[in-house]
Amino acid sequence: MGLLDGKTALIFGVANERSIAWGIAQAFSREGAELGISYAGEALERRVRPLAAQIGCDFVEPCDVASDEQIENITAKAVERFGKVDILVHAIAFANREELSGPYYNTSRAGFHLAMDISVYSFTALAKAFQPYIPAKGALLTLTYYGSEKVTPNYNVMGVAKAALEASVRYLAYDFGRQGVRVNAISAGPVRTLAAAGVAGFKEMYQRYAEVAPLRSNITAEDVGNAAVFLCSDLASKITGEILFVDSGYNILGVAEPIE
Ligand code: NAD
Repeated sequence: MGLLDGKTALIFGVANERSIAWGIAQAFSREGAELGISYAGEALERRVRPLAAQIGCDFVEPCDVASDEQIENITAKAVERFGKVDILVHAIAFANREELSGPYYNTSRAGFHLAMDISVYSFTALAKAFQPYIPAKGALLTLTYYGSEKVTPNYNVMGVAKAALEASVRYLAYDFGRQGVRVNAISAGPVRTLAAAGVAGFKEMYQRYAEVAPLRSNITAEDVGNAAVFLCSDLASKITGEILFVDSGYNILGVAEPIE
């Protein structure tokens, strides 16, 4: 018996085999969910289709979340195919590379808007589009990072975006509560993905993390996938509006131990 038997899940944000969304897709598939995968655009199709095939998923559709029309299209296609969507996973973020280094005050107006649109508003836009089709006991999940609460050098506008995303989780949890649907986020520790590579100094931060985190190890997309299974399964039936850390305990530290 899988923890997600009988549930349909639509996962946004698979770019390649390193994507956190891919870790989630594999874990969901293992637990019996019927899956659909969405990717950003044509350039990624070549990578995403073979991955989806590995887990027997043949609903693989593009959706640029900057486009209301594309969100409408994928909603219609998913509803036509599955009839309902029990679980929606949003593992999407974007900011221009130049906004992810140096002082935060250099953030441009256009760069700020773009980061907020793709990394924050898109979760609300997807929630709105799929709202009529998510039955009771359904779940929405997004991915965030601790830079929303504490300063992570160079994370800049993305930290501000994640703070807004986490607030969105709470407002959406309130709205969706009346239909028995839960909304949560996982705050993941650093994982070496395409998106992470855009943040200046990520490699050094990644190495240091494993030295100072209480569990003395980095986390993997598989770790996030397993936590996502829990949050989106009936095991978490009374948990909503939460930010669950999957970070080897890093967030409990006040001061990191000096490394010899
Ligand atoms: P990733 O690059 O594999 O995934 C980011 C995804 O966002 C990609 O699939 C990309 O195609 C998609 N995307 C970007 N713009 C889009 C658009 N306009 N429309 C549709 N999709 C778009 O990197 P990841 O690290 O797996 O990121 C997934 C989520 O996890 C992000 O929200 C990220 O902020 C979050 N996160 C990552 C880390 C980390 O260290 N990697 C830590 C905490 C949280």
